[in-house]
Amino acid sequence: MKNPFETSEHRAFRDTIRAFVETEIQPYCDDWDEAGTVPWELHQKIGAFGVWGFGIDEKYGGLGFDDCFLRVAYSEEMARCGAGGVTAALAGRTISVEPIARLADEEIRQRVLPEILSGRKGSSLGVTEPGGGSDVANLKTTARRDGNHWVINGSKTFITGGMTSDYFVIPARTGGAGLEGISLFFVEADTPGFSRTALTRKMGWWCSDQATLFLDEVRVPASNMMGEEGTGFLAIMNNFNMERINLIAGVLGMMKACLEDSIAWAQERETFGKKLIRHQVIRHKIAEMSARIDAVEATLRMICWQVNQGDMPVAELSKAKFFATKACEYCASEAMQILGGAGYLRGNRVERIYREVKVMAIGGGSEEIMRDLAVRQMGL
Ligand SMILES: Cc1cc2nc3c(=O)[nH]c(=O)nc-3n(C[C@H](O)[C@H](O)[C@H](O)COP(=O)(O)OP(=O)(O)OC[C@H]3O[C@@H](n4cnc5c(N)ncnc54)[C@H](O)[C@@H]3O)c2cc1C
Repeated sequence: MKNPFETSEHRAFRDTIRAFVETEIQPYCDDWDEAGTVPWELHQKIGAFGVWGFGIDEKYGGLGFDDCFLRVAYSEEMARCGAGGVTAALAGRTISVEPIARLADEEIRQRVLPEILSGRKGSSLGVTEPGGGSDVANLKTTARRDGNHWVINGSKTFITGGMTSDYFVIPARTGGAGLEGISLFFVEADTPGFSRTALTRKMGWWCSDQATLFLDEVRVPASNMMGEEGTGFLAIMNNFNMERINLIAGVLGMMKACLEDSIAWAQERETFGKKLIRHQVIRHKIAEMSARIDAVEATLRMICWQVNQGDMPVAELSKAKFFATKACEYCASEAMQILGGAGYLRGNRVERIYREVKVMAIGGGSEEIMRDLAVRQMGL
């Protein structure tokens, strides 16, 4: 689908990322996924493109400008490699970078952002707790003031990059019950009392790491509080918006991979004396997949345009997120059907996307939570 907002710079950027994914990522995805990790040099190679520095000042190693079209071009092209674990391993840091850049103490920003943005070090956002992830306002981790320090106690789980990151953004309860009692903290992995264990045997995202974090009397300087006391919930909610836009773009890339592989197979495979692509039932599946891709793509372009105008269309992006993951479930299922038995074997994009679509429907705000938020944004 043509993008009326696309400039030659957007096109060149997208082409660069696509070429990199095709030559330096796609051929190795299966091996990395089976090995359960990506080489750390890949973080630095991607960091060199500057893709984690949108909206961040150059003095911290950022790009000094922002453009939502470029952000989503990166997420979409990366997702076309068909291995969500690669994307998660690399981009897990993005959801913590924005709060660090906006809210952390100046000394922390100067010290850690260049390392994170260049890919030398990793960072993670730890919101979800063993007791739940959707109901952020009721999180249980606590922080109590002790002189010029805060002392944090609690646990976080499912944290992407949790085993490999050096830096963490951790919301904790500094006040009473509910959303106004939550503050954000910057926590370094080598702080005494911080420990972690890996979550293994996952349905997908094998080459990324997720961890349960334990904070046992973790003592951080008072200057590690990010933003004002009691404003952590709002900061987390604001941060979710760009995460969700990137997730929609990733889902779009996954849908396109399903369509591409379906078409390629249907043009090759013969049944009942003719190519699959000549059977009307298969043609209709392809038409339906393509139509749903168009719908997600058109909505995403409009969201990007609004973001670049300075708006954050929360209702639209909430609707787009659950619509996109449902559309991707459809595309993954139909692509699998078109590939037949071949699709069931490991080592192809469709098989992996079929397994990995669910994490997109659950993470970063589940389909149920997105529907709820959309209706609330409609004033109902
Ligand atoms: C691979 C992976 C990586 C992740 N990475 C991170 C990370 O880096 N950082 C992080 O903080 N978290 C991360 N998460 C956690 C993720 O954000 C949560 O799983 C998600 O927010 C849902 O929380 P939950 O799993 O605790 O489900 P719950 O909140 O317990 O909800 C369970 C189910 O009930 C539904 N539900 C909940 N409340 C309602 C309601 N009011 N009405 C209707 N339905 C409802 C939910 O939609 C969900 O389907 C990751 C998860 C996975 C699987």
